[in-house]
Amino acid sequence: MTALLLKQLEKSFGPTPVLQNVTLGIEEGEFVVVVGPSGCGKSTLLKLIAGLEDPSVGEIWLGGRRIDLLPPKDRNVAMVFQDYALYPHMTVAENIGFGLKMKGVGRSERALRVREIAASLQIDAYLARRPKELSGGQRQRVAMGRALARDAELFLFDEPLSNLDAKLRMEMRAQIKRLHMTFGTTTLLVTHDQMEAMTLADRIVCIDSGVIAQVGTPLSLYDDPQSLFVAKFIGAPTINLLPGSISADGAAVALQGGASLPVPKGGPNGALAGREVLVGIRPEHLSERPSSEDNKSAAHFDVAIELVETVGSDTFVTADWRGHRLAARCAPEVRASVGSAMRLFPRPDRIKLFDRASEARLG
Ligand code: ADP
Ligand code: MG
Repeated sequence: MTALLLKQLEKSFGPTPVLQNVTLGIEEGEFVVVVGPSGCGKSTLLKLIAGLEDPSVGEIWLGGRRIDLLPPKDRNVAMVFQDYALYPHMTVAENIGFGLKMKGVGRSERALRVREIAASLQIDAYLARRPKELSGGQRQRVAMGRALARDAELFLFDEPLSNLDAKLRMEMRAQIKRLHMTFGTTTLLVTHDQMEAMTLADRIVCIDSGVIAQVGTPLSLYDDPQSLFVAKFIGAPTINLLPGSISADGAAVALQGGASLPVPKGGPNGALAGREVLVGIRPEHLSERPSSEDNKSAAHFDVAIELVETVGSDTFVTADWRGHRLAARCAPEVRASVGSAMRLFPRPDRIKLFDRASEARLG
């Protein structure tokens, strides 16, 4: 069942459009992550749903009710803000229980519920403290606890992990995932971090300058990006991009650097002959080994190594190929040293083609 439905939402501040034609349905219990660069309109989208901003155009439906005309308190939506926005003069228990108190829930029932939630977040030892006596991660959990206590139909999280250090971010990411598995509440989380989006989401909504660029599972966005924007935004290290043009018979791409790559199956046909493209090759589809043994003469790049990064499980090689930079994910035992030459083999079946002018995916 569709829990949240956004219908052709638009938001402008004065003459500047910030969100345009945002149409999206979210299923009950789904965990959807909105991802995009800073300033693309993510927080604005959450504020429209929570009722902190009004849409310029469009409708918002939650659980079959139209909510965009209701005051925030009647929407049954709980939001966790980027800066947590805890009440500084209240204890942890009072912060978590605030929504319940407003709803008129009695003192003893409130205390019970607060304790339960605090225990699920492992902050039950700090119930009497004030926010300033807590670490960043603990404050973050109090903010989540306050949202959980409201027993809302929808959770909105605005970059909940961005103020935490790297290790804590991983822990809290797992915690958010566990909470979702426990409570099953429909969740919309916003982040600029593509890794966070990949690891948390059932589905990702990728936003480019206020417009939805693509919606899909993390793997579908990664393997099947419909535009250059999505291909570049999702994946680290970033996808390699080489300029070229499609051959007269449509079967190959002649790269500006001189090599030629076969067009992947199901890719563009002869109709696109001569089209200027960018060839996208993910770093894991470029390595020191040809994709099959009898394939040694296959397309390859003779590169000059610029950087070698060993991470244990893999060795990432950054290299120059005729003025173009390439990143390759190689085996940990690969022999590679800065300044020396190396032959890198792409996986021709995994390359992606983008129209250089429109930046749309071609194949
Ligand atoms: P994000 O959360 O993706 O970083 P925001 O939704 O906060 O982006 O902002 C999107 C754009 O809208 C930005 O250019 C920002 O400056 C602008 N904006 C946000 N809120 C307001 C406001 N209240 N008045 C004017 N411009 C705003
Ligand atoms: Mg924001």
